[in-house]
Amino acid sequence: MFDHRKLGRELGLFDSDPLIGAGLPYLLPAGAAIRHALESYVAELERRAGYQHVYSPVLGKRELYEISGHWSHYSDDMYPPMKVGEEEVVLRPSLCPHHALIYRSRAHSYRELPIRYAELGGMYRSELSGVLGGLTRVRAIQLNDGHIFCTLDQVADEARASLDLILRAYDDLGLNPSRFLLSLPAEDARIGDPESKYVGDQDSWDRSAALLRSVLDDAGVGYEDAPGEAAFYGPKIDIQLEDAAGREYTLSTIQVDFHQPARFELEYVGADGNKHRPVMVHRAIIGSLERVIAQLVEQHGAALPAWLAPVQVVVLPLSDAEEKYAAEIARRAMDRGLRAEVAHADEGTLGARIRENRHAPYQLVVGKREVASGHLAVRHRDGHQDDPAEAADVLEFLSFHCRAKSCQSLPV
Ligand SMILES: [Zn+2]
Repeated sequence: MFDHRKLGRELGLFDSDPLIGAGLPYLLPAGAAIRHALESYVAELERRAGYQHVYSPVLGKRELYEISGHWSHYSDDMYPPMKVGEEEVVLRPSLCPHHALIYRSRAHSYRELPIRYAELGGMYRSELSGVLGGLTRVRAIQLNDGHIFCTLDQVADEARASLDLILRAYDDLGLNPSRFLLSLPAEDARIGDPESKYVGDQDSWDRSAALLRSVLDDAGVGYEDAPGEAAFYGPKIDIQLEDAAGREYTLSTIQVDFHQPARFELEYVGADGNKHRPVMVHRAIIGSLERVIAQLVEQHGAALPAWLAPVQVVVLPLSDAEEKYAAEIARRAMDRGLRAEVAHADEGTLGARIRENRHAPYQLVVGKREVASGHLAVRHRDGHQDDPAEAADVLEFLSFHCRAKSCQSLPV
C-alpha cells in the first residue's frame, strides 16, 4: 500500500497550511477532480436508489444538539458554541438533527414512507492536534450522509438496501473492507440510566441490534460483534478499512435509531388515521470524502481507475507546429466529458513528457502524420499502444472507458 500523505502531496491532490490550521487540509485541483467524480457518482447511485438530495447549514443552535442528545453525549468532540447576540450556535457534529427537522417541516403519510434524504455536507470534530494527519484525521469532514425515515416494518429492507449500496460502491471504487462490525453498547451499559453513555430503552436497543444482525447474516458477510462501539443513540453496522500503516478505521456505517425520532417528535399518519413515530436509519455509503480519497490513493497509488483519474487524457504535440491541433483535440475530449490536458512541446522531450504524465490513463501523441490523417493512436498507462483510428472514434472510445463505473454508466 501507499502512504496517502506522501503520495497525495507528490501528486498535487491536497496540502495544508499552518495558517489555516492542523487537521484542515485543502484539496488542490487534482484532488478536487477526484472529489467531484466521487460526488457525482454517489449522487447518481443515491438518486437511482430513491433518495432525495437536500442541503442544510453547517451551523445550528446549541439547543438543537441539546434536544438531539449530542450536547450531553458528544460535546467532547464538538467545537465550543459561538455567541451571536443572544444566541449560541455551534458547528454541527453530525447532519442527523438537520435532517430530522427537514422531515418534521412537512406532514407525512405512511404512503410516502420510506423517505430517504441524502446530503453531502460538512460536519466538524474538535480532534486534538496530536492525532491529526493527512486526510484521515481531520477537523472538517465532508460526509456522504443519508437518513431514511420509515416504519418499523421497513427498517430491515432499508438497512439491507443500504448495505447493498455500500458493497456496490466498494466494488466500483476497488476498495476492500478489512472487517464488518456489529457495533453494540458496552456489556455493562445500563441503557437509559441518566449516567449511561447510551440513551433510550433496552427494548429498542435489542430490537435494533437484532435487525442489524439479520441484515449482516442475510448478506453473508463475515462480521464480528464490537461491544462498546455503538453510537450513543443506537447500534450500528460499521465497515472497516485498513490504512497503509495497518490502522483500522470506519468508512461506512448503517445505524438504526429510535431515539432522535422521539426527541424531535417526528410523526407520520398511519393507515389507521393515527399518528405514529417513524424510525430513522442513518447511513454513510462512501463515508467521508477525505477518508475515501486517502484510501483510494493508498490502495491504487497514482494509478487511479480511469473514471477517477484527475487527468484522464494527455495530448502531446511533437513540436510547436502541432500545438494548435493538440489544443483542438483536448477541447474535443473535454466536450465529451473527459478531463484532458495538453503537455506542451516546450515542456521537454516527448520521452520526458510521457514519463511526466505516466499516471494519466491515456496519452495521445500528435505529430505531422496525425494532423494530416486525422487519426490518433491511444497510448495506455501500461505502455501498450492501440492502432491509429479516426480521431472522433478514438475520443468516443476514451469517453466510454472513462465513464465505465462512473455514474453515467450505472446499469439501468
Ligand atoms: Zn445521522
